[in-house]
Amino acid sequence: MNKSIIKLTTIAIMLFMGTTVQADNKSPFDYQLKAKKISENVYCFFGALETISKKNGGNMVNSCYVQTKEAFVVIDSGPTFAYAKQAYAHMQKIANLPVKYVINTHDHDDHWLGNSFYKSKGATLIASKNCEENIVVGMKTRMGTTLGKKLFGQTKIVKIDKIVDDNLTLTVGDEKFEITQPISIAHTNGDLIVYLPNKKVLFVGDLLFNGRLTSLRDGSILGSLEALDVIDSYHAKNIIGGHGYETDENATAEFRQYLSEIKKQVLKAQDEDVGMEQITQKVKMPYFKKNKLYDELHNRNVLDAYKELEMMEDDEE
Ligand SMILES: [Zn+2]
Repeated sequence: MNKSIIKLTTIAIMLFMGTTVQADNKSPFDYQLKAKKISENVYCFFGALETISKKNGGNMVNSCYVQTKEAFVVIDSGPTFAYAKQAYAHMQKIANLPVKYVINTHDHDDHWLGNSFYKSKGATLIASKNCEENIVVGMKTRMGTTLGKKLFGQTKIVKIDKIVDDNLTLTVGDEKFEITQPISIAHTNGDLIVYLPNKKVLFVGDLLFNGRLTSLRDGSILGSLEALDVIDSYHAKNIIGGHGYETDENATAEFRQYLSEIKKQVLKAQDEDVGMEQITQKVKMPYFKKNKLYDELHNRNVLDAYKELEMMEDDEE
């Protein structure tokens, strides 16, 4: 092959690859991020429906960005510094604009460990009060422990800059961002949602899962169900959760069914005096086996629901 053919082939390959971003040589992990357009100027990177592993570099989470006339706004910064850097490279291909704000939906580390990269680019980091309190400089993270030093790379923990008390509305360029904590305890004790009224797009973090199961360990089943009511009351065109690929107006249906079914079956079992030792044997929900992480998370969710619903019954007596 002569040189000009090689050059043309290279250009053709680059064009074919479209929106995929290649990591630079120094990056500890090539995330091969591919953005999906959700709405005009709204893009998301969708992570694998798995738990954190060295193989996926922690990329088991969704992260989105919104382009405005003035700047980008990022919703959840992803699992590592390298991930955020590669996401940013992607944005810069679309428009040469700064990232003004990074909004963290909650304190689980897969959603915010990219913060230190954006901070180095001058972004303001936003989170709820509880999320801010739970992000402590120097703390050990699940991500850091699982990935190990090499893959964790330059990832650092930095403080949140701005707290959302109840709600906060930002205008960036031509876009409005309405940020709210809808429920005091749902997936965690500090979940934020972000609504773009002009586009009817709603980002809800881990108040929504689809295609894989949630974990109720830091939250509340009743709060999670209440949060879904709030989410659905927006009648958004697109609802984007922290994990999973469904983003249309019905994206909450499967998750609501899962939580409602646990609640119903656990309450029934408690009525029949089924004890905590037997409850995971009693509440099997094989229909949800089609969802990823059923074997890993379902029994624990049933136990957590049992404890919470039992306390509620005690309160009523
Ligand atoms: Zn998550």
